[in-house]
Amino acid sequence: MRIRMALAGNPNSGKTTLFNALTGSNQFVGNWPGVTVEKKTGKIKSSIKKGKDVEAELTDLPGIYSLSPYTLEEVVARNFILDEKPDVIINIIDGSNLERNLYLTTQLTELGLPVVVAVNMMDVVRKNGDTLDTAKLSEELGCRCIEISALKGDGIEDVVEAAIEEGSAGNPAVPKHEFSGSVEHTIAHIEEAVLHDFPEASQRFYAVKLFEKDEDIRKKLNVDEATWNHISGDIAACEKEMDDDAESIITNERYIFVAGVAGACLTKKGKGQLTTTDKIDRVVTNRWLALPIFAVIMFLVYYISVTTIGTIVTDWTNDVLFGDIIPPAVDGWLTDIGCVEWLHSLIVDGIIAGVGAVLGFVPQMLVLFLMLAFLESCGYMARVAFIMDRIFRRFGLSGKSFIPMLIGSGCGVPGVMASRTIESERDRRMTVMTTTFVPCGAKLPIIALIAGALFHGAWWVAPSCYFVGVAAIVISGIILKKTKMFSGDPAPFVMELPAYHLPTLGNVLRSMWERGWSFIKKAGTIILLSTIFIWFVSNYGFVDGHFGRVEDLSDGLLASIGSAIAWIFIPLGFGTWKAAVAAITGLVAKENVVGTFGILYGFAEVAEDGQEIWTNVAADFATSGAYAFLVFNLLCAPCFAAIGAIKREMNSAKWTWFAIGYQTIFAYCISLIVYQLWELFAFGNFGVGTVVAFILLAVFIYLLFRKPKYDNSRLTIAPEV
Ligand code: GDP
Ligand code: MG
Repeated sequence: MRIRMALAGNPNSGKTTLFNALTGSNQFVGNWPGVTVEKKTGKIKSSIKKGKDVEAELTDLPGIYSLSPYTLEEVVARNFILDEKPDVIINIIDGSNLERNLYLTTQLTELGLPVVVAVNMMDVVRKNGDTLDTAKLSEELGCRCIEISALKGDGIEDVVEAAIEEGSAGNPAVPKHEFSGSVEHTIAHIEEAVLHDFPEASQRFYAVKLFEKDEDIRKKLNVDEATWNHISGDIAACEKEMDDDAESIITNERYIFVAGVAGACLTKKGKGQLTTTDKIDRVVTNRWLALPIFAVIMFLVYYISVTTIGTIVTDWTNDVLFGDIIPPAVDGWLTDIGCVEWLHSLIVDGIIAGVGAVLGFVPQMLVLFLMLAFLESCGYMARVAFIMDRIFRRFGLSGKSFIPMLIGSGCGVPGVMASRTIESERDRRMTVMTTTFVPCGAKLPIIALIAGALFHGAWWVAPSCYFVGVAAIVISGIILKKTKMFSGDPAPFVMELPAYHLPTLGNVLRSMWERGWSFIKKAGTIILLSTIFIWFVSNYGFVDGHFGRVEDLSDGLLASIGSAIAWIFIPLGFGTWKAAVAAITGLVAKENVVGTFGILYGFAEVAEDGQEIWTNVAADFATSGAYAFLVFNLLCAPCFAAIGAIKREMNSAKWTWFAIGYQTIFAYCISLIVYQLWELFAFGNFGVGTVVAFILLAVFIYLLFRKPKYDNSRLTIAPEV
């Protein structure tokens, strides 16, 4: 005998943990037909089946909060259940979040299929000192409930045993909840008019969905126009009587029922005592204080790492180590051994200037990483995701999108990868597209360079970059959410908030070092190769018709290429070939922007007179153009490694190009607006560029404030572009 089981539950209820515990290595991973949502099926391990001679196959459904048609995951899960009709549904619920999880249960039990509820996280429930009356819960829900801990493996054999019994007997769940009189009356009408041929047990689910005016279900059932008009009249009458729309009526009544069940079955211990964590959270996550506190903390993080402590050390590495010590020493040694001139120049003016310029910023980066690691491991960053959820939600993004961004402040690659935890396909794509707006570690040298060389280390430059990044995400979120591709409500955000604790020094240092070391490794490999390449293409070119070493870098190949494209950046205030080339080499790795400057502005040569290192850079930029340059490099297409990560996560070339194109055009427009308005308001310069800036600004304002064309409460599956 073969039993097909489906595992359904909310995201984070422990589905994957239970699935792995039950199937071990007998898993088959693929995609649901036509979509990129992962599908996993597996055979239940024989050791778990208590010797029962049945073949049991388990399918892990996507994590969902309800059986509505609002997200791709819900549609996938629902269609599987309705079309494939598994023999039994195992509904895993998080016992420590009973109320939220039972909402889905009330829908599953209406399907007319056998349901076994596995109440997970019982170890947490018990540790909290709470008790659950499982017998009563089974009674109220109309199906068997079993306490388990998927993590510890407790009770999981019992779940399988119950599922095999219920599945082979074919006992459908018998839901006990009832809606108000007039709703039940209408539902009875619908059952009579449309569903009389259906088995009695499965009528209720369809009837309730038709009552909610679920278009997909109507199509599935082929309800003809006349019948539909007839039942629509009944529904309208009920809506009028209840003074609410049909869908809200059902939702509200479910919530009331679920709250009652949770209250009756779960006994909580020690309510009302505030722990230290609760007390801190009262301030830190306070509705009004949360955001200002977060802004101040991030300001301090960037201020300390770029402007104060970090700078002291970086100045030393830049001025002394890569200024007074290394270049003269290497220079002298190469002269002593009689090194050929071109190699001498490659090493001193190419490699040391380029790689040295990048490495000079390592101390600042380590300070930044140290502080971020501390904020993460003490538990504060989890609160930030929670705080940001409140804000992001208004713009249609979920707080979950903030976690990739948080990770992205170290490096965009793991940041983009972290978007995997986002269940909704559309939200995930949007997060992948916007995560790299947050300044990553490799962008820090660009920030520090511009802040130091052009703004004399002004206090506001570095922190402002972080806020530019976050603002870019929020603005993109709002704009994109109003398009058809991304419309839809954000999935509910649920996250365990760990208690605050002092992190161990070892953990914080390890995290700092891991990030810092990967940066240093990059300097030794990809940046090194890039600087060699840049040195060659900038030092060689066509002079008087033949190819060879050039006297002046502005005759080199790189200068020719740069000059050919520099005009693109004139409206942005940095239309020089050096700036254009630096922005392009930044695609290989963002540190290259600084490395390229190091070579093109003769870092190794100027370095000998100490403080003056970046004065050559400063001479080529106006402050307005420099800030626009910074903004452009922060927001435009990320480095190749991050683009690769975007491609992997998007799993589609078209989406990848769309993401990169969006980022670059967005960066160009914002940077143009910044430069032109800065010029207008600071210096009174008005021209064609200013007009373009105002037009772009008007377009952005329109895109931000226009009424969404697409109703965000209905599902529009993103087309596979
Ligand atoms: P899914 O999103 O439903 O697939 O959930 P996962 O299986 O990924 O689990 C979410 C988190 O809950 C993970 O960190 C698990 O380790 C944890 N978890 C799962 N089951 C239990 C449990 O029984 N007890 C505890 N304490 N944690 C659990
Ligand atoms: Mg999972």
